[in-house]
Parts: sequence; C-alpha cells; structure tokens
Amino acid sequence: MVDEIKPGDRIRVTVVEGSFEGVLMPRPKLSPEDVITIKLDSGYNVGVKKSEDLRIEILKKYDAPLKKKPKDPVIDPTKRTVSILSTGGTIASRVDYATGGVSASFTASELLESMPEITDYANIRASQVMNIMSEDMNPKLWAQLAKSIADEFNTGADGVVVTHGTDTMHYSSAAMSFMLSDLQKPVVFTGAQRSSDRGSADSFLNLSCSVAFAASDYDGVYLCMHGGLDDTFCLAHKGTKVRKMHTTRRDAFKSINSSPAAKIQSDGGIQSLIPDLPKRGDANPRLQTALEEDVGILRVYPGMKPDILEYYLQKGYKGLIIEGTALGHVPTTIAETSLIPGIKALIKNDVVVGMTTQCLFGAVNPHVYSNLRELFSQGVIYLNDMLPETAYVKLMWVLGNSKTSQESRELMASNIALEYNEKTPIDDFNL
Ligand code: GLU
Repeated sequence: MVDEIKPGDRIRVTVVEGSFEGVLMPRPKLSPEDVITIKLDSGYNVGVKKSEDLRIEILKKYDAPLKKKPKDPVIDPTKRTVSILSTGGTIASRVDYATGGVSASFTASELLESMPEITDYANIRASQVMNIMSEDMNPKLWAQLAKSIADEFNTGADGVVVTHGTDTMHYSSAAMSFMLSDLQKPVVFTGAQRSSDRGSADSFLNLSCSVAFAASDYDGVYLCMHGGLDDTFCLAHKGTKVRKMHTTRRDAFKSINSSPAAKIQSDGGIQSLIPDLPKRGDANPRLQTALEEDVGILRVYPGMKPDILEYYLQKGYKGLIIEGTALGHVPTTIAETSLIPGIKALIKNDVVVGMTTQCLFGAVNPHVYSNLRELFSQGVIYLNDMLPETAYVKLMWVLGNSKTSQESRELMASNIALEYNEKTPIDDFNL
C-alpha cells in the first residue's frame, strides 16, 4: 500500500505519538531516506520517521491540476459584468510538489473554474495580466495594471477584481486610487493567505465577496479580504486607508484611521459601514499613469546618522516620505544628530519632503512642539493621518503629474483619494 502513495496524495500517518493528516511532499534532496514529509493544513511541514508501528492511509489521491481551456461562459443580460484580473501571489499559487513550496501558477480563469458559484453575482471575464509575487511589484507594473483596468471598463466591464499577492497589495490599491480618477465603478483588490489548492484556503470567500462587491452599486478602489478568522464575512477597506497588519492571519488587513467601508457576507449580502459610501455612475475612468520613481521612504530611529539624507540628495531623488516618531518628530536638538540641516538641503534642492507617523494610528501635527514648527517652516509637508505607504505612492504620482514643485506641494496637501481625514476619528483604533 505504501508503495502506491505518491507526492500530492492526502494521507493520514499514525505513529505511537499520534497521527498527522496532510499532503505527502516529495523527499527534499537533503533529508534522510527514512523520513516522510507531510504538509499540514496549517501550511507547516512535519517530518515523520519511518518505524515499525507507522501506519499510512490514503485519504485522497492527488488530482493533477486541470489544464483544460475553460468553457465560454453563458452571458446573463440581467447581471453586471465583472472582470477578474490576476497578477500572481498566493491566491494564484498552488503547492509545488517538486520543491514543497508554493508558486504562482493559477490563472484567473482556472480560479473561476474552481468556483463557478461566483457567476451568481455577475457575468465574469477573467484574464492574467502578470504573474509575480507582490514583493516584486513596481511602478512600471502599476502603470500596466492601471491601463489593464481602464481597458476593462472601456470594453464594458461594470466592476474589476484584481487578485494580487498580499504583501504589497495595499501599495497597489493606493496606486490605483490615484492613477484611476472619476472611476464611478468599483475596483476591488483581493488575495489569499493560503494557496488556493489547500483545504484551509481563504481565497474562495475573498474572491466571492470581492466579485459581489465589484458588481454592487458602489464606486471607488477597495481591498476586500476576510473580516475575521472564520469563513462568514469579508470587509472592504478604502484603497488608501488599509494596511497588512499580520503575516499569516486571514484577517491580516485592517483599515487604519478609518472604518472599513463595507461588510460583505458569505452569501454576497452587502452592508455599508460608512455614511455616504460613493455610488457608481456611468463615466469611464481617467487614467494618469505617470509616476516619478525617484521617491523614497525613510524611517526615523534613535541613533540614526544624519548623513543618510545626503544619499537622497546625491542620487537625485525628487521626493522623500519620512516616517517620523509620533506627531512627526525627527532628531533636532543635538547638533551632531540633528536631521534639520539635511532636510533643509533637500528642500533647497526642490526635493519634496512629506512627514507621516510610524505610529500609523493618529495624525502628525507640526503645531504642538517648537522643533516641529521649525521642520514645518522649513517646508516639510505634514500629511495628517495618511499612511506612509499611501504617502509614498501619492508622492510618486503627484511628482509624475505636476509641472512645478509648488504644484506638487499643493497636491500633496490636498485630499485626492480620501487618503487623509481632516479630523482623525479617535474611535477607529481597532486592531
Ligand atoms: N509574498 C507573496 C506575495 O505577496 C505571497 C504572499 C501572498 O500572496 O499572500 O505575493
């Protein structure tokens, strides 16, 4: 019986210490021959030493992935059309039985084949626009993605779902919030913390909630993922006010300084969680894809050396977002460690410098401490409760789409895509 077992089969292994259920992995080159490796539903691998009392049961034989061309969907004229654009990441990954890791390999249409019930919410179009892990995302790919989304709307889509690796999904949702204006339709980013071929996959609920929201009456760029640990509901967060706050939990994404925008139940029911959630209209989006790539993020920390700022000047950076401490502080009072001379030099050379907080919750405020007033008077732009990641993407977009540094400074200080609150809600401190 043991001989028939092949990598990829779902098995139960029982030894004296207990039993383990999961997928049999191929033996890694360096591991001893008498150890079998099982990938548990949690995603962790366990190695079990072969022994006389070892018992193995096959629970399910491995189904090789389907490579069939999907059938043409039947169009229901009473439903809206939602395009699913896949970009890679865990939601598009499966366990790779050669390496034991996961790699991006599902296309949007294969995902669709595995969950045909999403056609209850909309007519679905699906295509793969890139296949990357999201840590490899970059400004050129953002421009490509924005164009692909606009193309979908210009060819009849009523909503777009973007499947994306979760690590940097909030940068991309912020980027699309600036690059696609007058959207009047929903763009919904979603992903997964477990690959789609695992028993514990979260992708199915995330994708079905996202399709339901993309087919809804709302407008804007959102990020939609599990709202809790069970499979009962998802939350749609505003694309500029959301952040990945946990490495592995299904509900890793949280709205920061904001309430989530909407709750989507597993049956597709939608409840708006903020007053006046913008409603869809008929216009097609305006695309502004130019991004200035010479922009950086600099985190302030005790003991930092001020000469780090010279790097940005020498390399010709055009913009810098500082993640200051709390209200937006940097070292100022001890001459040798003060950042003020370096910041002054940047601003004198037309580098736009924006201040955010590494607290994430709450707003920066230059008017409380006199050393902050000095930074402010030197021309550092205090960005209220804007997230550092959103501020970084916004500064790239602002510099790419304005002619003078004065215009850039004015745009940085204005609210373009709900990226900051005039008054930060004190109750939204809700991790
Ligand atoms: N690091 C990968 C990415 O962000 C995998 C994580 C994920 O998709 O959740 O694409």
